[in-house]
Amino acid sequence: MISIQGKGVSTGVAMGPLYFYTRAKSTIRRIKVTDTEAEWGRFKAAQAKAIEQLGELYEKALAEAGEEAAILFETHQMMAEDDDYVESIENLIKEDKLNAEAAVTDTAAQFADMFAQMDDAYMQARAADVKDVSGRIIGILTGVVQGGIDSDVPVVLAADDLAPSETVQLDKSKILGFITEGGSGSSHTAILARTMGIPAIIGVGKQVKAEYEGRDVIVDGGTGSIIIDADEATRNVMMAKREEQIKQRKLLEQLKGQENITRDGQKIRVYCNIGNPEDVSTVLSNDGGGVGLFRSEFLYLNCSDYPTEDYQFEAYRQVLSDMGDKEVIIRTLDIGADKQIDYFQMPKEENPALGNRALRICLNRPEIFKTQLRALYRASAYGKLGIMFPMVTSVWEVKEAKKLCEVVKKELEAEGKPFSPDVEIGIMIETPAAAVMSDRLAKLVDFFSCGTNDLTQYTLACDRQNNDLGRFFNPHHPAVLRLLKMVCDNAHKNGVWVGICGELGADLELTETFLSIGIDELSVSPRSVLPLRQKIRETNVSAVKEKVLADLLGEGSAI
Ligand code: PEP
Ligand code: MG
Repeated sequence: MISIQGKGVSTGVAMGPLYFYTRAKSTIRRIKVTDTEAEWGRFKAAQAKAIEQLGELYEKALAEAGEEAAILFETHQMMAEDDDYVESIENLIKEDKLNAEAAVTDTAAQFADMFAQMDDAYMQARAADVKDVSGRIIGILTGVVQGGIDSDVPVVLAADDLAPSETVQLDKSKILGFITEGGSGSSHTAILARTMGIPAIIGVGKQVKAEYEGRDVIVDGGTGSIIIDADEATRNVMMAKREEQIKQRKLLEQLKGQENITRDGQKIRVYCNIGNPEDVSTVLSNDGGGVGLFRSEFLYLNCSDYPTEDYQFEAYRQVLSDMGDKEVIIRTLDIGADKQIDYFQMPKEENPALGNRALRICLNRPEIFKTQLRALYRASAYGKLGIMFPMVTSVWEVKEAKKLCEVVKKELEAEGKPFSPDVEIGIMIETPAAAVMSDRLAKLVDFFSCGTNDLTQYTLACDRQNNDLGRFFNPHHPAVLRLLKMVCDNAHKNGVWVGICGELGADLELTETFLSIGIDELSVSPRSVLPLRQKIRETNVSAVKEKVLADLLGEGSAI
């Protein structure tokens, strides 16, 4: 038995075989083949295997998630057999003497382009499907598996580190848990693991060795403990822990439908953070009161070119209609820093977290921003939408962004395209500058949402991606909490509501503090809704407020 200690960043116990993440090769070899019949045979075999895999995925999804989820795999199967698609590959192999990998790559690009240029949003979305199917066939041909997981059973995935763009593309049905060499608790990969409810441990360094692959591993995302080939006694303890967690979860189920209200009657809204439209089902199954942060950049990370207005409109419309009359706050594009996208072709930066990111990119490239704003306003006709801008530091940025909203609304009006007149506009408070200027910013918006992941990073001058900063990176630092109080006071003086959508919102050690300073909304990962509701319902704000505020503002906070 081997025990390894890392840092747990997403709770839960998982057990299964250890599997190392392999990165798909980004370049496909292009060679001329002499035996074209043999090459055609290679393609046909890979195509048959892909169809078989998709059939298995269809059955699995049907059993676990129902017809609607499964239908995607059926569509992919049909694409893999489509006459035009196969004929194009056959011509490239037999006439142009191309190798099968290159023939599939070229055909995929041609078909994806063709779909992307269609007017119909449904057909445009097929561009991603044809790339997906082709990626699967290429993976089989090259032996490099799409999504990095070539296993029939679900696995505990180990990697040096995972970029957000890699994490979003993983086949989640195959992942029981994550282990990474590097990483940090407030990195986007850790955030995604929490949103998906998958146990995750980071910062294990080189302790998980390649030769452990395939061996049984138990991860405890709460304590950060990893056990390889556990002895029977340890295994029993961990199984019991897992059972206990499942039992606890069932107990929390009783809180569904209950109010987020303290013992002395103070109410707070509990919303959820999501990264894509599919996450809405977990928001609803965890009884989230709304979506407090939809990180729209994950739509962009999932595409290989700028997503069109119609493509985005479909995604936003889906979230809004699935959420019914519940509020949905969609954050405009927040790329840069750790979320890099090749097709944006951004120049390399020395300090990307302090560089061209989020609203800065949108204001510098208004054509991209306007496409997103048009999609958002069009989708607003289908639900209760709030739009918020990330990485604000100055009043002029908000004025300029709002002006673009007005331009977009006028365009849509002229085109006769409907949108809601009641879209709320908000900003994220995630830089000290925005917090300090919150008295003036409050006059321009309907709400603030505090992004404590970045607010902590920028206030304490501590890189949120760096796991080695240890006690220096402290989101409980009074500098951060005092800024939150200041933002709250300035917001309320101006009739603006204020929420927290950073990971700190789910930190139960601070629930009393947030209630005491008057936060109106907490937006957390879906699985954190019920534990947070429980904590809120146990709290008596009037009994703790005086002490909490004294600790925050007085000597008690002298860290
Ligand atoms: C934050 O910074 O707290 C936040 C919610 O945004 P992100 O984590 O996506 O940067
Ligand atoms: Mg942020």
